[in-house]
Amino acid sequence: MPGTVRPMRIDLINTGTELLLGQTLNTHAHWLGGELFELGLRIQRQTAIPDGEEIRLALLESIPRSDVIVVTGGLGPTSDDITREITAELLGLPLEQDDSVLEHIRAYLARRHRELNANSYRQAQVPRGAEVLVNPFGTAPGLYFPPQEGAVAGVTRTPHIFLLPGPPRELKPMWRDQIIPRLRAMMPGDPPQLRNFKLFGLGEAQVAETLEAPMLATGIVEIGYCVRPGEVILRAIGKPSALDACGELVRGAFGGRLFSESDELMEEVVVRQLTARAETVAIAESCTGGLIANRLTNVPGASEVFGWGFVTYANAAKEQVLGVPAALLDTHGAVSEPVARAMAEGALRVSGADHALAVTGIAGPGGGTPEKPVGTVWIALASRAAGSPPASPTAGAARALVVREHFPFERDMFKVMTSQTALDLLRRRLAGHEPA
Ligand code: AMP
Ligand code: MG
Repeated sequence: MPGTVRPMRIDLINTGTELLLGQTLNTHAHWLGGELFELGLRIQRQTAIPDGEEIRLALLESIPRSDVIVVTGGLGPTSDDITREITAELLGLPLEQDDSVLEHIRAYLARRHRELNANSYRQAQVPRGAEVLVNPFGTAPGLYFPPQEGAVAGVTRTPHIFLLPGPPRELKPMWRDQIIPRLRAMMPGDPPQLRNFKLFGLGEAQVAETLEAPMLATGIVEIGYCVRPGEVILRAIGKPSALDACGELVRGAFGGRLFSESDELMEEVVVRQLTARAETVAIAESCTGGLIANRLTNVPGASEVFGWGFVTYANAAKEQVLGVPAALLDTHGAVSEPVARAMAEGALRVSGADHALAVTGIAGPGGGTPEKPVGTVWIALASRAAGSPPASPTAGAARALVVREHFPFERDMFKVMTSQTALDLLRRRLAGHEPA
């Protein structure tokens, strides 16, 4: 591909028997994975190994296949902390006492009313050619081994190797202050960035077929897909300018179906949109049992835009709370277009909100008929006509939209899909992308 660079291959080796005995959670793998990803880099392989000799094999495996190796732990004072010695031996570097490291350890111990001991001298041994990474929060310094030619049989050039102390309070500042600048210096140009395009109501194959080729032509390094209930996430990694070009392509191809270009959830988008317009929504739910209201109230600030949610599961509740006429329920059944519409309009009237969403459907497994099989759901959106006062009896009539969907899944998936579709209906109205 023109203009792309092979990504740096980074191996992470976490040493420590406690990691393998289930005594210490390997938080370094998690934390460093995130740190590297923020730089536009990623770990190609992570290995956790016990203390002691295993580090030799792990390094021998990683050296030929990596550009960068990060090792954590094993720099301590005990006899099983041999990361420093084994690395030096594999690279053919003699260990030499570094007087500034020894002085650092002496001063560190003196502040704690302790004195230099035999292990201090071990920790002050630095392999020739390695750079010391100062450790302000502990005795053991970290070490950086720049690449060497011909040091290891069969390997033209050894990777950049970083040895870091195990304790998180020593590792994290060293990483931020001393490793990140070195990694940045190794990277050609700006690091690639990630952008998630979240699409509603499309299959991943359809997205791939339409967008993959033109997106790659923008110089995007990588495209990936992640399918969640009611959404496809198209993940693009590349330079900011290529990501912007991708955004144009996605909007051009799927316009109103693109609900987020970040990591926002559908309910977050809706709360943001309503907040920006200073409008409110009420929710009338039957088959989702409150899930839509639950999702909205998960979003901080929801109280500004959401005040009324009704779970009207029984016909009597639909009649008494939302004023759905009994005749409609008798004639069409609770799961029907007129009832969905009446629920939404009732919720709008009772709450005085600007918009109301209503859902009524057959979650199953029982209750289906040939005309209304299990999974059938009607979703209604009513909005107060511009200028009409809150709680006006005719509110919403001008702008009611009802859609029929079919989600023949397990009950919980049925509810998620229904809630997602309902929220998307409101999102599209608020974004001015209403389906025709
Ligand atoms: P070490 O320098 O290997 O002796 O590690 C010292 C201490 O750092 C260990 O006892 C752990 O508490 C902590 N530690 C080492 N490695 C990890 C890791 N991968 N994740 C979380 N904590 C760690
Ligand atoms: Mg240890």
